Amino acid sequence: MRTLESFVQGAWQAPDSEGVATSHAVTGDPVAAVSSSGIDFAATARYARDVGGPTLRSMTFHERATLLKAVGQHLLSEKEELYDLSTATGATRADSWIDIEGGAGVLLSYASKGRRELPNSTVLLDGDPEILARDGSFIAAHIATPMNGVAVQINAFNFPCWGALEKLAPALLAGVPTIIKPATQTAFLTESMVRLIVDSGILPDGALQLVCGGVGDLFNHLGGQDLIGFTGSATTASLLRTHPAVVERSTRFNAEADSLNAAILGLESGPGSPEFDLFVTEVVTEMTVKAGQKCTAIRRALVPHVYLDAAADAVAAALAEVRVGDPADPETRMGALVSTTQRGEVADAVAALSGSTTVVIDSCVFHDVDVERGAFLAPTLLRSDNPIDPKVHTTEAFGPVTTIMGYTDPADAISLTALGGGSLVASIYTTNPDEARLLTTGIAAHHGRVHVVDASVAGSSTGHGSPLPNLVHGGPGRAGGGEEMGGLRGVRHHLQTTAVQGSPDMLTAITGEWMPGSTRDLDRGHPFKLNFEDLDIGTAIHTDSRTVTLDDIENFAESTGDHFYAHMDEAAAAASPIFGGRVAHGYLVLSLAAGLFVWPDPGPVLANYGIDRCRFAKPTYPGDTLTVLLTCRRKTLRAGSGYGEVAWDAQVLNQDDDVVAAYDVLTMVANRPGVNGAPPEQTDNGGGI
Ligand code: NAP
Repeated sequence: MRTLESFVQGAWQAPDSEGVATSHAVTGDPVAAVSSSGIDFAATARYARDVGGPTLRSMTFHERATLLKAVGQHLLSEKEELYDLSTATGATRADSWIDIEGGAGVLLSYASKGRRELPNSTVLLDGDPEILARDGSFIAAHIATPMNGVAVQINAFNFPCWGALEKLAPALLAGVPTIIKPATQTAFLTESMVRLIVDSGILPDGALQLVCGGVGDLFNHLGGQDLIGFTGSATTASLLRTHPAVVERSTRFNAEADSLNAAILGLESGPGSPEFDLFVTEVVTEMTVKAGQKCTAIRRALVPHVYLDAAADAVAAALAEVRVGDPADPETRMGALVSTTQRGEVADAVAALSGSTTVVIDSCVFHDVDVERGAFLAPTLLRSDNPIDPKVHTTEAFGPVTTIMGYTDPADAISLTALGGGSLVASIYTTNPDEARLLTTGIAAHHGRVHVVDASVAGSSTGHGSPLPNLVHGGPGRAGGGEEMGGLRGVRHHLQTTAVQGSPDMLTAITGEWMPGSTRDLDRGHPFKLNFEDLDIGTAIHTDSRTVTLDDIENFAESTGDHFYAHMDEAAAAASPIFGGRVAHGYLVLSLAAGLFVWPDPGPVLANYGIDRCRFAKPTYPGDTLTVLLTCRRKTLRAGSGYGEVAWDAQVLNQDDDVVAAYDVLTMVANRPGVNGAPPEQTDNGGGI
């Protein structure tokens, strides 16, 4: 039996007492002794804040994304070591894939999101600036910066790798150091994974610590800059959220608790339909993957009363085909629960449901295992003929157990689903768009995710039970009231949003992005001749002018085929309440603007890859004279690529200085030769829209 160590204050630390012994889910043999005794929790929290935090906060979002990518790739390269250990949790290879490779996948997904959706900066600008003074001299912007504390992440036993990594990824990307506290039962797997990460040397000191065992007095040392991310039972969640640190010091608290998730079979999805088969398959999958020990597993299967017998029979028949046994055997589809204690808890929950349900199936053949020593349990389908009985909606059997019940109409399905008191996810099986809309909007407020299935997504659906890094994971009420992942939402939970007010120049300096009304530097020559590092925020050009003629408009219509009346039909355009006469195409205005600001010769601007936020503010009439004010608004270095992305604020003005079009021009601008991977000699040509 291995004594697990914690990784605190930059070193591995063994407990100074024996601790709790955990056992192998399949053989019952001792696996690990777990204890956190001897850890100085105050010093551990301080180490995160004083050592990990400052280093992480000095890095940009892109630099932190690069760390996540390296950790994810490293774990994938070492995954077999984790697979070998994972069998002792009762998991089959497929179960472990979700945990191990799914966990590494979350890191990679956040790494890619960080580089694509966040700035290469330490400050995240949140939304557009607000103009607070009529003359534009006083403005405001919302900025988001990392919390200055530590994220304490407490995880449930069922996903020892994924559970830790899906919390770690957004915290690290945000710039907040982490203390992982795995559930005691499966801490041996988390400990091995953290060892791989620590040994890789990828993360800076203090960015990641691990506490195996209880959290001692850690909560007493948390404050308003710290965060607690909890996954586990509703009972523990309510205990922790009422801790004085959370209540008195407003420590951020996010809970993912238990949940009796529903699957709803549509009224027209009877036996013989593809949706009926998909429903049956999904219920069986959710009951048996991880032996039903998934927070997202389907616990309540709702079917129209007329299909209840057929659906119960079909699920039972499919369950009878599931091979249960040794998770190390590749033929096995369902392994063991995590422990015999957990099996006892599930059995207690089934017993508690016995007065409210009847058993459809609760036995199976156990292949090649000792069911006394291993934590094996047959998939158990229960049936409720009194679906308004609250027990079937509130008793969570955290194992391979589901209750099937009937409903009459969508309103009934919605109210039965809501009896769960808030859930992580529900699935709806229907081909009828009206039913899908009715059910989804009816249950959405009670759920973090709704998964709508028909035959067209049979091969592409990611499944009822799979939380995805880019989608919200969490749910209201009983599900904990929290929200994890959800792409950048998960990162934002670790940032403080601050409204900053001041002059445009001050806001430009603070945010690193050019703000409307801020100073423009018009004395640098043509900015398209400047390399990425020579461009400053605010470097600008006010172009020569160009008068738009009727010939321009007609030629543009001819060459593009855009003969919209406002450009070509004098009488109709004159009658229009918007134009009052023929006007230039908006796209002609953009094209003429490009002709004014583009530098034609080969130079640092490699390409124009798009425009953002384009608005045509006023019509442009034949005879109008246009100029462009083009200002370097935002720079994003693409590390190692030889270029950076530059967004230019473009304002197209007419002879009265009215803005007729406003947009961001997005370009790729080369680094100086030899810098950031750029070739020694400049070989590219100038960009144009
Ligand atoms: P649990 O008993 O509530 O434990 C969850 C975590 O909390 C474990 O790490 C546990 O550590 C820790 N913990 C317990 N008491 C604590 C305390 N007083 N102070 C600090 N930490 C404490 O839940 P579980 O049995 O591990 O997990 C099963 C439950 O989790 C199920 O109800 C399931 O629905 C839920 N779950 C929810 C999600 C979700 O995403 N919503 C995901 C998975 C599981 P020890 O192990 O050391 O006691």
